[in-house]
Amino acid sequence: MTEMTEAPDMTEARTQIVRALLREDLRGQTAYGAPQLDVPVRLNTNENSYAVPAEVVAAMTTALAEAAVDLNRYPDREFTALREDLAGWLTAQTGVELQADQVWAGNGSNEVLQHVVQAFAGPGRIALGFTPAYSMHPIISRTMGTRWIDGVRGAATGVFDLTADTVVAQVREHEPHVVFLCSPNNPTGTALGLDVVQAVLEAAPTTVVVVDEAYAEFARPGTPSAVELLAAYPTLVVTRTMSKAFALAGGRLGYLVADPAVIDALRLVRMPYHLSTQTQVIARAALAQRTALLAEVDAIKEQRDRIVRELTAMGYPPVPSDANFVLFGGLADAAATWQDLLAHGVLIRDVGIPHYLRVTAGTPSETTAFLDAMAGLEATHRLDPASNHLQGVS
Ligand SMILES: *Cc1c(COP(=O)(O)O)cnc(C)c1O
Repeated sequence: MTEMTEAPDMTEARTQIVRALLREDLRGQTAYGAPQLDVPVRLNTNENSYAVPAEVVAAMTTALAEAAVDLNRYPDREFTALREDLAGWLTAQTGVELQADQVWAGNGSNEVLQHVVQAFAGPGRIALGFTPAYSMHPIISRTMGTRWIDGVRGAATGVFDLTADTVVAQVREHEPHVVFLCSPNNPTGTALGLDVVQAVLEAAPTTVVVVDEAYAEFARPGTPSAVELLAAYPTLVVTRTMSKAFALAGGRLGYLVADPAVIDALRLVRMPYHLSTQTQVIARAALAQRTALLAEVDAIKEQRDRIVRELTAMGYPPVPSDANFVLFGGLADAAATWQDLLAHGVLIRDVGIPHYLRVTAGTPSETTAFLDAMAGLEATHRLDPASNHLQGVS
């Protein structure tokens, strides 16, 4: 508390003045707000629980020291070396030959998604997504002045699957300028068949189709990437991130692959020099050290499968997951269970779906802490199957 603190009515008056200045379409909106709480077990934002290995820290530090002397200069605006490295990595990961001129990057995939919306949607235009999906898709669209349409999955029946017919019908109805698909989908965890992506691309040749593949590295074997469709469709954009599998959420590096003409369009909306020298250096060091950084992906997938198995046995039905998290149901009151777990030092995510919560697969001991807390829940947390129809997803 400082001496300068104003009387509450003064603060309120100033708040009113600022509120009145805010863009009409932003009034009453809530900001992205995953809690950042200091608790022993943090399994709420799908970060990689494993710290950056010492040898990778050393490589990053050396590269940063070498680059620091040139910080008087702007960074490479085209981040060419990084784009070449990203193209090389993605070619290795997907088996699809990719070139640097098909790659774009930003401060997290949130920024590359924003670039896509700025270039292809915006005021007077429409974006469509299929709820429940990544909450930033509507937030980015709306803050860029785009009309957002909340498409539907089979949520009314408790099924989150998205079929080609469902998507195509909604795309035909709304004629969006940009459509967001998410595979594996956050928060449900399940990957989308390429038939769905291809059906949309075929049905809507003048719609930019974004496939958000933030969790692709965790997918179960045989899960294809939409990258395979790039050669056939200039309207396809596939986004990826180093925030999850690469254990680099703090580094803020997301990227996308698309036709070089799409990349050219994104140059029109980005801020000059948007990727700092530090970001480029850290990301390149991380890509060079990827074997060490990605070493825990298999361990994380094991914990994910363990969560699915054990929650099934406990009677909290999980949704099949290709990601590093699991959405599970069977809860009488999701918010109450979230609180109870937090009281036991375990932070997971209430994504706003009645009777469901989402948990990130962490280290074996973090996962054990979560499963122990779940096993210790009072019976009152359990959704009574008899009242299922009354309490079902509305
Ligand atoms: C976590 C996540 C991202 C990553 O965002 P960054 O800005 O790259 O950290 C993107 N899309 C989805 C679906 C996510 O869950």
